[in-house]
Amino acid sequence: ATYQFAGKTILITGGAGDIGKATAKRFAANGAGIALLDLNEPKMVDVAEELKSYNVPVGTFRCDVTAADDVTKAFTGAFEQFGRIDYVFNNAGYQGAFAKVDEYPDDDFQKVININVVGVFHVLKVAAQYLRSGGGGAIVNMASYAGVVGPPNMLAYGASKFAVIGMTQTAAKDLAPYSIRVNALSPALIGPGFMWTRQTELQAAVGSQYFDADPKIVEQQMINSVPMRRLGSLAEVANGVAFLMSDEASYITGFNLEVTGG
Ligand code: NAD
Repeated sequence: ATYQFAGKTILITGGAGDIGKATAKRFAANGAGIALLDLNEPKMVDVAEELKSYNVPVGTFRCDVTAADDVTKAFTGAFEQFGRIDYVFNNAGYQGAFAKVDEYPDDDFQKVININVVGVFHVLKVAAQYLRSGGGGAIVNMASYAGVVGPPNMLAYGASKFAVIGMTQTAAKDLAPYSIRVNALSPALIGPGFMWTRQTELQAAVGSQYFDADPKIVEQQMINSVPMRRLGSLAEVANGVAFLMSDEASYITGFNLEVTGG
């Protein structure tokens, strides 16, 4: 479906990454102005360059979502440039280490929770303030199927995504009076892309009963666990975000949309 986002603005955290970029393109193609937020400024500037062909306003705002001040500054900058914020895709995230519970590194656990939970909270909070003063809007929090069924060797990541789904349910209730819908989206195996390559390599390296030691075989094992027997594409994730933000989803809030191939 082609949703109409002309004249609207979407703010995308993790806008330099694979899913952020695919979603930016999807919304730009449907007419939205795009505010990209990311820690990785050079990559974000490249994405902005690629978006030029859509002839929509684009802005880049360097921001570490774990720092509340950074998030506030980035939203302020985006609001100054665009004059409105209608949609927020709360998408920046980090996959974490791959290790069994008894070997999971303490510092990495903290890092995952800081980015995927505290960072998502900061963005959710400021997004709620802006959308509320703008009269309403929609937020999509990026969760994962790892937040529905805990995956092996990904203790912190799984925990963080369960938390994202929980925050989505509470925020949906808190913000319903202000015409702000809040949903989560949970992809499973998506690729090709950075996270797909990283997880097949690192799952192979853990040496657990769940996966082979050869990343190529791990790829096949993972794909064989998907009823549709293929990876989801980045565009298929972006389609889910577009649906949840669109008016077609006007009575859907607090929901976790699984984009998993079954
Ligand atoms: P990616 O690594 O390509 O993109 C993540 C982006 O987040 C990067 O550009 C990175 O610079 C940015 N980022 C990281 N920490 C940040 C911080 N502190 N502040 C600001 N930006 C920060 O990965 P992706 O596949 O595009 O993942 C996007 C989201 O989708 C993540 O939340 C991830 O957990 C989730 N997800 C991905 C998959 C997948 O298979 N790709 C599956 C399920 C969920």
